[in-house]
Amino acid sequence: MSSGIELQRCRACAKTWAFPRRRCPSCGGEPEAFRASGRATLFSATVVTRAPDETFRALVPYRIALADLEEGPRIMAHLSDEAEIGSPLRGRMERIAGRQIPLFRPA
Ligand SMILES: [Zn+2]
Repeated sequence: MSSGIELQRCRACAKTWAFPRRRCPSCGGEPEAFRASGRATLFSATVVTRAPDETFRALVPYRIALADLEEGPRIMAHLSDEAEIGSPLRGRMERIAGRQIPLFRPA
């Protein structure tokens, strides 16, 4: 099953990144889009107690993580449960507060 997490990869040098760009930030090559596996490692996590806007207020408190995807990029995501730094995660795009957001769970 696809994670739905979209990444881009350079056709020339294979550098991979998370936010859409028109050119490779490394060599200026042509990017291609692909879906991440959803496998990642927890780099850091925090608990949000003050929501950034009204749509997230109902979720407080909730966990945010920086997840290192196995494809390379580090992305910010929601985290379902407490997890140890460096532990494996599995994630996919889910609808949270009316938006498509990557949500990771301990693997
Ligand atoms: Zn490149």
